[in-house]
Amino acid sequence: MSKKDYYEVLGVNRDASDDEIKKAYRKLAMKHHPDRNPDNPKAEEHFKEAKEAYETLSDGQKRAAYDQYGHAAFEAGGMGGGSPFGAGGAAGGFDFSDIFGDIFGGARGGAGRSNVHRGADLRYNLEITLEQAARGTETQIRVPTMAECETCHGSGAKPGTTPTTCSTCAGHGQVRMQQGFFSIQQTCPRCHGSGKQINTPCGTCHGAGRVKQHKTLAVKIPAGVDNDDRIRLSGEGEHGTNGGPAGDLYVVIHIKPHAVFQRDHNDLHCEMPISFATAALGGEIEIPTLDGKALIKIPAETQSGRQFRLRGKGIKGVRSSSHGDLHCHVIVETPVNLTERQKELLREFEAINDTDSGRHNPRAKSWMDKVKDFFAQ
Ligand SMILES: [Zn+2]
Ligand SMILES: [Zn+2]
Repeated sequence: MSKKDYYEVLGVNRDASDDEIKKAYRKLAMKHHPDRNPDNPKAEEHFKEAKEAYETLSDGQKRAAYDQYGHAAFEAGGMGGGSPFGAGGAAGGFDFSDIFGDIFGGARGGAGRSNVHRGADLRYNLEITLEQAARGTETQIRVPTMAECETCHGSGAKPGTTPTTCSTCAGHGQVRMQQGFFSIQQTCPRCHGSGKQINTPCGTCHGAGRVKQHKTLAVKIPAGVDNDDRIRLSGEGEHGTNGGPAGDLYVVIHIKPHAVFQRDHNDLHCEMPISFATAALGGEIEIPTLDGKALIKIPAETQSGRQFRLRGKGIKGVRSSSHGDLHCHVIVETPVNLTERQKELLREFEAINDTDSGRHNPRAKSWMDKVKDFFAQ
């Protein structure tokens, strides 16, 4: 098995000071720590690599041996006539809490590190209007949260009583299970890793130490947000346990359907029904935009399906530098509920309409010709 170079693992130079090595390790350990990356075996591997590298390079004697012999210095029967440290590498008694105690709020003591958990991230689905998305808005949301129980101050034990050390794991929070040749360490099933046993549970939280509450948060929605954009409220997720950091709250944007506009990224689309006479003769149509009304000049002989683009009347996305466009799609509407007089005029119109030459209806004429050819085959 080829091992990675310890200096490379930590990303430091070979002449790095002890301080630099410690700093580099802290950074990596924070990033890859299994508690922060549950169910990610890669992270665990990185974490172990970094830990191993740090254990060696932070010890002057080991570091000197490593510099001289490389990994072989720690392999039993390796080169150089025997390693100065043997194979185990357990010397040193590295304790996780040494380095994380100050960061994670000092969760020390018998219970061990698996006891400290970052709170869960929460998701809040926020519905806003298209106008609010375009202009940005500020709103308040009410979110459920688990807060420390005020009756027992988070201990879970009835006031006046104290939790005792868990009898199953003797306060370690972990138990060893023998399975065939292997012994597996597991979170204690009795105390769930807390190392403590609550004999008289608190009446308010029933021993959980936390209660469900609601909190109101102000959320600033930046102009230009789109569906599924997320706004992170750092530290507003669930509380951590035993001094672990709180999770984050993600506000996920959902834009309500709009009566007039459909959004496509930064562009807006809308239908523009016009009368048959306006389409033929031309005219002006007033259309709505997000910043007021606009006039569109409809040229004579406008066909259904034609698009008019109003530059810059779309939305300015959160990450874009300019506004999108507004596309108006013409629909020529066939008149309905006609009066006798209207019908009369249309019949008169059709009577003098030169259908055969296709002068007034080139598209219909061309289609008719194709149909004739088709039947002639
Ligand atoms: Zn309580
Ligand atoms: Zn236990």
